[in-house]
Amino acid sequence: NTFKKFDLNKQLLMAVEDMGYTEPSEIQDKAIPLILAGHDVLGIAQTGTGKTAAYLLPILMKIKYAQGKDARCIIFAPTRELVMQIDAAIVELAKYTDIRHVALFGGLGPKTQIETLKKGIDIIVATPGRFMDLYLLGEINTKSLQYLVLDEADKMMDMGFMPQIRRILEVIPRKRKNLLFSATFQPRVEKLSEEFLEDPLKIEI
Ligand code: AMP
Repeated sequence: NTFKKFDLNKQLLMAVEDMGYTEPSEIQDKAIPLILAGHDVLGIAQTGTGKTAAYLLPILMKIKYAQGKDARCIIFAPTRELVMQIDAAIVELAKYTDIRHVALFGGLGPKTQIETLKKGIDIIVATPGRFMDLYLLGEINTKSLQYLVLDEADKMMDMGFMPQIRRILEVIPRKRKNLLFSATFQPRVEKLSEEFLEDPLKIEI
């Protein structure tokens, strides 16, 4: 299994094996070492390229195990479907770890989501709207944040989420790693990356 060339631990390599991945995809090949090395990354990649594992594997490697009460990684995605997909990928890739994660999205009551947050959480996957609701209710503390991921950033802009994302970025710690993924590279994506990423390395596949 050629994933062994990455500096990933046994728990992750076993999960990758269980998924049936034998070779890293192009985006994984390029992004995993850069994220492990601590770079901010701007990834231009479509869905279907393996971009989710490209950022989840190095983040899971760095976060390693359950720790403390507050999330160390927040992943924003534009739709409930994508949030659920990303969370399902965490279920698979983190299955040999004790990492705690939650999917936050609207369309149903927040009670279960709040209960999960209260028990302590490592990774939050969320739509910006529901995240903001729970943040304003005081159910989310961002002080421990280390990784911020914006997935399908172009779609989030299309759906009008940027004002919310900007408000969120104002209240979270500056000292963090940022990963931005977008299917397209347009001036507005470039501008967003200039605004939020620090010396990002751009990967285009
Ligand atoms: P994504 O682009 O992240 O939505 O992934 C698309 C699909 O490819 C998902 O079903 C993944 O489970 C699968 N996948 C991701 N990485 C690999 C890989 N290295 N080898 C085979 N399948 C993969």
